Amino acid sequence: MNRQRILEKIRAVGAEGKGVVALYNEISAIVAEEAYTDAQVARRGSCACYLSVEFLVGRAFYNNLMEAGILEDVQKILAEKGVNIADFEQIGDAALGNGGLGRLAACFLDSAAAEGLPLYGYGIRYKYGLFRQKFEDGYQTEYPDDWQRFGDPWSFRREDEAREIAFADMTVRAVPYDMPVIGKRTNILRLFQAEGSPAAEKISEYLYPADDTEEGKLLRLRQEYFFSAAAVGELVERFIVEHGEKFELFPRYNSIQLNDTHPVLAVAEFVRVLTEEHRVPFPKAVALARQAFNYTNHTILPEALECWPEKYLKKILPHILRVLKRLDSFARREFSSLGCTAEEAAQMAVKSGKTYRMASLAVFIGRRVNGVAKLHSDIIRRDLFPAAAKYYPEKFCNQTNGVTQRRWLELCDAPLASFLDKWARGWRQDFEKISALSKNIEDGSAISEFIAAKEAGKRALYEAVKKRDGAELLPNAIVYAQIKRLHEYKRQLMTAFAVLEIYFQLKRGELPDFAPSVFLFGAKSAPSYFRAKGIIKFINDVAAMIAADGEVNQKLQVVFVADYGVSYAEKIVAGSDVSLQVSAAGLEASGTGNMKFMMNGAVTCGTMDGANIEIFERAGRENNYVFGAEADELERLRREGYTPAAYLAQDEDARRALEMLQTFPDERGYYKELYDSLTVGASWHKPDHYFIFRDLGEYVRALLQINRDYQDRRAFAEKQMKNVASSAYFSSDRTVRGYAAEIWGLCDEK
Ligand SMILES: *Cc1c(COP(=O)(O)O)cnc(C)c1O
Repeated sequence: MNRQRILEKIRAVGAEGKGVVALYNEISAIVAEEAYTDAQVARRGSCACYLSVEFLVGRAFYNNLMEAGILEDVQKILAEKGVNIADFEQIGDAALGNGGLGRLAACFLDSAAAEGLPLYGYGIRYKYGLFRQKFEDGYQTEYPDDWQRFGDPWSFRREDEAREIAFADMTVRAVPYDMPVIGKRTNILRLFQAEGSPAAEKISEYLYPADDTEEGKLLRLRQEYFFSAAAVGELVERFIVEHGEKFELFPRYNSIQLNDTHPVLAVAEFVRVLTEEHRVPFPKAVALARQAFNYTNHTILPEALECWPEKYLKKILPHILRVLKRLDSFARREFSSLGCTAEEAAQMAVKSGKTYRMASLAVFIGRRVNGVAKLHSDIIRRDLFPAAAKYYPEKFCNQTNGVTQRRWLELCDAPLASFLDKWARGWRQDFEKISALSKNIEDGSAISEFIAAKEAGKRALYEAVKKRDGAELLPNAIVYAQIKRLHEYKRQLMTAFAVLEIYFQLKRGELPDFAPSVFLFGAKSAPSYFRAKGIIKFINDVAAMIAADGEVNQKLQVVFVADYGVSYAEKIVAGSDVSLQVSAAGLEASGTGNMKFMMNGAVTCGTMDGANIEIFERAGRENNYVFGAEADELERLRREGYTPAAYLAQDEDARRALEMLQTFPDERGYYKELYDSLTVGASWHKPDHYFIFRDLGEYVRALLQINRDYQDRRAFAEKQMKNVASSAYFSSDRTVRGYAAEIWGLCDEK
């Protein structure tokens, strides 16, 4: 990329009388155009393709300028024109994803470009991203996220490469929009927009349309097939242009990564295209698919392992149903030739009853099947796909997630980044260098500078919360943060109960030395997830009650920030002291929020779950706060019977915390339902399904221990620094190198 030329063009831009949005579009377009030219030149040879229904890229402007190596220069040029580069923060970021899975996809693209690896993203260009969240009277309300209202200067519409996608009842045009992903090598994220008729346009209108009706489910199925088929169509066509119909070479040039089960129909489409359009024999097409496709599992929660009813497939995708049937019989024949028992075969079968199971298909076809943290990959083998692990052990591997240190440290935490430039030189490009910090941990001046850097990050967070939510955080407080999608298994409700217990103790005067503490929450709930919405309202009610209590409101504060997303996360990870990662053990596949916090020097208060375990292993349990039942214990409790009442009986404050659900007004019936789910169980599960009362007591003790430890600021800072110094492994640069070597075979010829 020609930096000088870009900078000259930007210098020539007139700022006079132009609004921020116009200026943003003009400057972005200059950089985007140069980058896209590079990307197109690079687009040949072997590559890996990442199929994902979400790409949670976040704000593109600063990151792209940083990756292009011109952020500081542009900042200066703009300053000369009287423009503050920070003004562009008012341009909202496109939230084409929901949470960790989509953000991971974005981190992988970023890291692959930085590492010079050819990785191409394929997804959907939703007209509306994840809803914008507001709180009204403490309730979540949703508003459409019309992200394109600012323009979309980073995308290039490729009308010339549009293709038709066939459904039984309509044909839809898939029009690609390409976004350059800048790095040592410039790659492309290609998002397809559905066009052709009002019904067609619906397909790319919303991320996760409500799927509580048949119509909603069909729309979701259409979305998945739409982008999977568009990607497969393109890859096959591109291959034929370069290599003719020598399909036996296809897997050497293409590795296709299925990010969770959403794009799994790509497998059936690939087999369909080869057999029906290019006369490849069925067994050979399957064999090629088995070399080209890989599958990443992201969750063991049964509701997320998609199964498509035969009747839906018959209705809109009969040509795919045909292939799925053949794949199912093909797999069954293989299972019997391998000598599987009937039970094992049933467990692995693609078709089960009247549904087709996407995870089973992905495992049968995937050359590699990976989980996203060590514990999770073990659980997949042991509990989720045990028969497959027995007959196809070579498929299974682990790739622990990571996050890019460029967005999640360099860009979001300038004070800490400059500190590291001094004490761990070279970390920006080569994150292994961060370990050099260990040597300096005992150095008194390093500690003072570290503390000063963290204070600066915290000030920036305070300003952001003031500006966005109008809330004044308690001065000089310890900031405990829990930011992530709202889900029962993540146990935000347990944190609310723990805060209530601390509140009761403060009220009774039992914590005279308690250091002022802020509990910061950020989370969106799926619009139709009743219980999660109840939890949001509850936390807001707890926040209001404490804020109104003059006896404690200078010591304890709860703030639930609205509209949590990537840009907010950037501020929160830079400004917090404690990262709350408290999922019920065995259920958080990996987590990546935990890694962002670690890199930025927050200690983790968490359970032995997902990548927390690997964080504790590297940074030391003594530098973090580990509590709660481990996965084995919860498994045993599930088997032998778990009664929350037994724990509640011994803990009066826990009972009182729970009773708050019956104390606050409950206009919408949320609290009654939540209360019942914890005490008597609900339709499909036993009481306290996620073991809140098993872990709550230990959680409160850990939070109070942190509060005491923090008061020796230097000793606590040592723990924080130890976490930063041990975070090398959690760079997504390392993760994509792992995928490239073990899964995509991009390093050596396959
Ligand atoms: C990193 C990130 C997540 C994932 O957080 P977890 O704590 O791992 O669930 C979700 N949403 C956003 C906006 C993120 O940046």
